[in-house]
Amino acid sequence: MPTSGASTELNDEDYERVNWLIQYLTDDLDSWLSSSIACCDSCYDDYVSKWPLAHTRKGGLQYQNMPAEAFYDGSRRVRGFLSETDFLRLLPYIACPNCGDSIGPNLFAFELPFDPADFEEDLRSLGDIARLAPFLVLTNSFAQAVKTEVEQLCSSIVADLPSGHTFRGRSVDAGSASATDFGPPPRSKTREGRYNHAGRPALYLAETSMTCWEECRRPHPPFSIATFVFTRPVKILDLSEPDEITEVMAALMYSNLAAAPSDGEGWDRPEYVLTRFVADCARIAGIDAIQYSSTRPGSGASLVLLDGSRFTDSVRITGIEIFPPRKGDYPRRRATA
Ligand SMILES: [Zn+2]
Repeated sequence: MPTSGASTELNDEDYERVNWLIQYLTDDLDSWLSSSIACCDSCYDDYVSKWPLAHTRKGGLQYQNMPAEAFYDGSRRVRGFLSETDFLRLLPYIACPNCGDSIGPNLFAFELPFDPADFEEDLRSLGDIARLAPFLVLTNSFAQAVKTEVEQLCSSIVADLPSGHTFRGRSVDAGSASATDFGPPPRSKTREGRYNHAGRPALYLAETSMTCWEECRRPHPPFSIATFVFTRPVKILDLSEPDEITEVMAALMYSNLAAAPSDGEGWDRPEYVLTRFVADCARIAGIDAIQYSSTRPGSGASLVLLDGSRFTDSVRITGIEIFPPRKGDYPRRRATA
């Protein structure tokens, strides 16, 4: 919609043009990126802090932003409607859907699979109780909805033998590493993790060796990656494609309650309370593993085998290799917004 000042600052003709511009800009973004405008320069940080997965996932905000001029060059309907001069003159009269201020000079294209306004208050109150009294999280109505949804999702999952490989990295030299190095830590050394409680080991695996390297915070040598195959059928709750699950679960997985990157080494990990809650719901429903989007920028999916004590009868290591394969092959750091 137009900004609040558009009707008083523009003449009737330009105000009408702004309304058409909104329509054509929406059409062009939809046909180009299957997205709409998510936020603007002034509220980008706020948006990303609320929906971190919208920033980090493939095809997310980090990759789908462009200067207004670049958008104009690639647009079809907008170019056919306005000169670049008029486009840049009228663009500031379009209101950002997140904060209401005028958008520009950059366009941030992304579309959550739900209306964020429907969930922001629920997620805020859920975060409050998770930080204040995590054992009482189920007194929150949104947490109850999450539990119901996880139970429903889990009820239709059948055990299956996953095909392909998964990966796990350790700061060890491949030449002297053994399978034991790549198993879960012992109970006495297990800290709380995104999907496990302290003292309850789980096995975290990555979809690709690159995801693994990113999840391990781009470690320096020596670093090696073990390749795993599953050896028994397992029930996997797949939350790695939030666009394909229910709105309640998608909102949780996109939110800072589930997708906040954790770089701290301390014991205070409020960002893990809700994911561990989801893991508990899944455990009770008989689920063996959860697949989820990596919280590292541009990375793929990760998978956690919830019961680390079943490591030896669930997976087998088929190889251990130093990573990256040759010295100097470190992947280049991706540009960040
Ligand atoms: Zn904004």
